Amino acid sequence: MAIAAVTLTLAPAPALADSPTNQRAAKAAPAPVDCEQLKCIALTFDDGPGKYAGTLLDTLKKYDAKVTFFLEGQYVKSRPAYVKRMVKEGHELGNHSYTHPNFTTIEPGAIRSEIQKTQDAVKKAAGVEPKLLRPPYGMADLQVSDIAAEYGMPIVLWTAGSRDWSSKNADAIKKQTLAVAQRDGIILMHDWVKQTVDVMPSLVKTLQSRGYTLVKVSDILKKENLAAGDVFPLPEGWEN
Ligand SMILES: [Zn+2]
Repeated sequence: MAIAAVTLTLAPAPALADSPTNQRAAKAAPAPVDCEQLKCIALTFDDGPGKYAGTLLDTLKKYDAKVTFFLEGQYVKSRPAYVKRMVKEGHELGNHSYTHPNFTTIEPGAIRSEIQKTQDAVKKAAGVEPKLLRPPYGMADLQVSDIAAEYGMPIVLWTAGSRDWSSKNADAIKKQTLAVAQRDGIILMHDWVKQTVDVMPSLVKTLQSRGYTLVKVSDILKKENLAAGDVFPLPEGWEN
């Protein structure tokens, strides 16, 4: 009896020690998110993992928020521990090329190499492969779409931007994000912008107080039934 009691007391301690949020997360696999029921929003972070990714992950964990990272392969290679942590903490990973070239100005072979090298780097770092593609600058054409289809990936852009890379101002980033936030919105942000990471606790709290659930972008895409090579949301002027 004594041994059993001690085991029960001690066994969960390492995993559950730091917060109530963790206790909820550790109990069972999370229930599927239903954006038909919930007021969902997807924050997406491009070009990382950036050097502030660890702080961002701490904030997301504290507020039980999930996001999507569109990773740049060269930084996956240099900061693999963050990538591993992203997966472990329930976030989603997308492919954002290896060195960030404009896919509409390079040869098909170079596009494939950019995508493949990033898939390989993420697999090596975290044991999974991204299932979504966001080409650098959101630049896609029919050729990029065809190549995305070869990899079985839809192309995921964004409904609005935080303009964080341009303002580099915490208040402006929060204000802009709240101004463009909408149900099922997909927001473009960057985890290499220090002010974005700095303002995240306040931003996440405000979004949650307005009824939003922060979800992986694929939770929002469920009802779109995207096929490989499809682009969402369709950019202005895009013709199928
Ligand atoms: Zn980018």
